[in-house]
Amino acid sequence: MIFKDYQYQRPDMVEIKSQFEKLLADFQAAAEAETQNNIIEQINALRHNVESMFKLVQIRYSIDTRDAFYEAENNYVDEQQPVYSGLVTDFYKVLLASPHRAQLVERWGEQLFDIAECLLKTFSPEVLPLLQRENKLVSEHRKLLANAKIDYNGEVYNLQQMAPFMQSPDRTTRKEASRCYMGFFEENEATIDRVYDDMVKVRHEIAVKLGFTNYVELGYARLGRTDYGAAEVAGYRQQVLEAVVPLATALKKRQQKRIALDELKYYDEVFEFPTGNPTPKGSVEHLVELAQNMYRELSPETGEFFDFMVDSELLELEAKQGKSGGGYCEFIDNHKAPFIFANFNGTAADVDTLTHEAGHAFQVYSSRNYELPEYVWPTFEACEIHSMSMEFITWPWMQHFFKEDTEKFKFAHLAGAITFIPYGVTVDEFQHFVYENPTATPAERKAAWRDIERKYLPHRDYDGNDLLERGGFWYRQSHIFGMPFYYIDYTLAEVCALQFWYKSQHDKANAWQDYLRLCQAGGTQSFLKLVKLANLQNPFVNGTINQVMKPVSQWLDDAEF
Ligand code: ZN
Repeated sequence: MIFKDYQYQRPDMVEIKSQFEKLLADFQAAAEAETQNNIIEQINALRHNVESMFKLVQIRYSIDTRDAFYEAENNYVDEQQPVYSGLVTDFYKVLLASPHRAQLVERWGEQLFDIAECLLKTFSPEVLPLLQRENKLVSEHRKLLANAKIDYNGEVYNLQQMAPFMQSPDRTTRKEASRCYMGFFEENEATIDRVYDDMVKVRHEIAVKLGFTNYVELGYARLGRTDYGAAEVAGYRQQVLEAVVPLATALKKRQQKRIALDELKYYDEVFEFPTGNPTPKGSVEHLVELAQNMYRELSPETGEFFDFMVDSELLELEAKQGKSGGGYCEFIDNHKAPFIFANFNGTAADVDTLTHEAGHAFQVYSSRNYELPEYVWPTFEACEIHSMSMEFITWPWMQHFFKEDTEKFKFAHLAGAITFIPYGVTVDEFQHFVYENPTATPAERKAAWRDIERKYLPHRDYDGNDLLERGGFWYRQSHIFGMPFYYIDYTLAEVCALQFWYKSQHDKANAWQDYLRLCQAGGTQSFLKLVKLANLQNPFVNGTINQVMKPVSQWLDDAEF
């Protein structure tokens, strides 16, 4: 069956609620563990169906945000998602209260109980209207960005479509394209400030109602983080400041010399080589074909997986007006099918989709037979290990995509990993400021961003751009709006992926076995346990980052660029 034929039917939440509640009552009344296990199976089936319908709506709406039918369905999902979360929370409550816990753990694993304990803290019926309000704000923000129309050189573009101009070898083009791009955010500054301020306040209110001091701890709990907290993350940022920021600053200096500029301005940073950035060679169809061959050669498991993606039409890759921005991978439970969404624009990012998002998709495909919805995906920082490591594991095939640009691509990829980490921790530290100071004004938030940026990105030069000088760069980072505290995850995963980069060059067979084992474990374990399972070093342990950086730094020093 192909994606287009996946049936959508609006889940009747009144009916589902009554079925769910009946199952929960039976669960509580059950005298034996065996009966409770059977009821969990029925709950899983019910959940697979609701989640599949919700995801079909979200996917189809993101493909065309102008589609009135799916827009209405998306509004319905925004309203009903918290109701559904409430039911899952009720399930967690009765689960944790079960007198047969030992037998249930035997059947379902300890991690389900850890997740239940963690997520139980994030919901009470009292906050339901506030959660619905939060969802509406997130959708409002998404829609504003998806419908951005940027006038540039007599044509109208969306935000993603501006990327090739912003990477142009011609400096005037880069500058002007970047100015127009930021111009969209400047024109909408009041709206964005209002939406974000509302988001911060509603999140703070939810946190206080749930018994937290502020949103920070709630944000961590919502992300299912069971084995580290804000203190560990602060220590990790400190490691980055000491071990990565100097490397990143040196790379930026090197870039400035390479592209022969007196000063590296913000619009120059994406321009890596005087001969132009590496670009993939060929049409979207051709790149997909290359990816299909690559995954067949990499392993039998990846070959089977990617053939399934192509045959079932689960790749939505081309940029179009009205399409939501960015890229993602989803999983549709009823069909045990991953789905990949992207906005191809002719840059190296297109290939990243076929490795990064495909890494996510390969993991969920490898975990598709877990009955518990909780175990299909792990927490985000673990998820990003699958995707970012796949970007490195597929290096031997990059010559087919980039031809004469291959060495440039590899250098930019690895250097980009280093310069990304300080940016990632900037986003994280900013959000800690925001949610620890929920009454800060929009201007104070921007000032805080600019201060944090100066610490981790000391090379950054905004060339007098008003919004950016005032601290508005983070407007471009949609995670800050829709997924608070989800960003440090990319950097944690990068530190792990760089270990796979090293291992896959020096011990290919074991690297692949470690990676496969990690993907097959899905969400059955917490982040740090998965790190251990994959034979990776824990990024929070002082000294890890320094050690991981050594061979990377050496490789970059030896590179010709
Ligand atoms: Zn990802």
